[in-house]
Amino acid sequence: MTEATVIDLVDATKSYPGGVHALRGVDFHVGHGELVAIVGPSGSGKSTLLNLIGTLDKPTTGTVRVAGYDINTLSDAQLSALRARHLGFVFQNFHLSAGQDALDNVADGLLYAGFPLKERRDRARTALERVRLGQRLSHRPNELSGGEKQRVAIARALVGEPQLLLADEPTGALDTASGEIVMELIHELNESGTTICVITHDNEIADSLPRRIRIRDGEIVSDSRTTRGTA
Ligand code: ADP
Repeated sequence: MTEATVIDLVDATKSYPGGVHALRGVDFHVGHGELVAIVGPSGSGKSTLLNLIGTLDKPTTGTVRVAGYDINTLSDAQLSALRARHLGFVFQNFHLSAGQDALDNVADGLLYAGFPLKERRDRARTALERVRLGQRLSHRPNELSGGEKQRVAIARALVGEPQLLLADEPTGALDTASGEIVMELIHELNESGTTICVITHDNEIADSLPRRIRIRDGEIVSDSRTTRGTA
C-alpha cells in the first residue's frame, strides 16, 4: 500500500448470522484521485462492501484500510472520528433534514469539526456555490427539486473536505436529466481532486466512470483497472 492509497481491502470477507456469506474474499485498492464504480446486481454484496469502506461495519476476516487506518484496530469512537474527518456520504434518498434550509443542512456536515456556527455557515455557502446552488441557500428541502436536493447532499458530504466521497446509488431517486447533472458534478469534483466511489446496480452509470469494479455473489468478477496492470 502506498501513502496515496485511500481504500485497501485484503481478502475481506463478511458473513452474517445464518450462514450468509455476503463477501467472500475481496481484494482491491483505490488510489487518491480515482473515480470508481462498484457495480453489481441486487444481493451481490454492494451494501455490505459500502458498510466496510464507510467504516460502519468491520470485516469477518481480512483487512480493510481506509484513509490509511486499519479499521479492525479502531474503537467505535475512533471509527466515528475517522468518518467525520475523512469520509463524505451521499445516499439515494438525500437524507436531508426537512426543518433546515440548504445552508444549515450543509453546515451540519461540519458539526464534528469543532468550528463555530459562523465558520460552518461560511464554509457551507462556499460548498453550495461549488455545486452551483448559491441561489438556494435559504430553501428548505421541500422547496428544492430532487436534483437540487442531491446537490445539497453532495455539498454537505464535501464541506469537510473528506479524503473519500462514497455515493450510494446517487441518481437512483432522480429523473434522467437530474441524474445526468449529478453525474456531471461527480465528474467535475473528481477532476478537482476528490476521490469518489459510486455504488450502483446501474450498468449505464458504471460505464460512464473511468474504473469499474464488478461484484457478484460476494466476489469481484472484474476490475477494469487490472487491464492497466496496477490493481
Ligand atoms: P446489495 O447491496 O448488492 O443488494 P447486500 O450487501 O445488501 O447486497 O447483500 C448481500 C447478501 O447478504 C444478500 O444475500 C443479503 O440477503 C445478505 N444480507 C445483507 N445484510 C444482511 C444482514 N444484516 N443479515 C443477514 N443477511 C444479510
